[in-house]
Amino acid sequence: MNHKAEATCPNGHIVELGVCTMKKKKFFGGEKVCGSKGYIEISPDEIQCVGCKTIYSYKLCPICNAEIPISAFQKKSFFSKLG
Ligand SMILES: [Zn+2]
Ligand SMILES: [Zn+2]
Repeated sequence: MNHKAEATCPNGHIVELGVCTMKKKKFFGGEKVCGSKGYIEISPDEIQCVGCKTIYSYKLCPICNAEIPISAFQKKSFFSKLG
């Protein structure tokens, strides 16, 4: 799935899927964000990061922290269905 895929959060914010934000621990302390742009669709509701293999079933809206189901990003048009 493209990291540019968009969905609308329950509060109306348009959110990009974006890069993987999972933090990976480094050997000598500290953390590094995965940052991978590639996702594999493993089911209609879940995607897996190709970098760190994290499975996502939802994404948090960066503005209001609402959960947006992955299935919302898979729709070609986010105007096609309301509610
Ligand atoms: Zn990742
Ligand atoms: Zn929002």
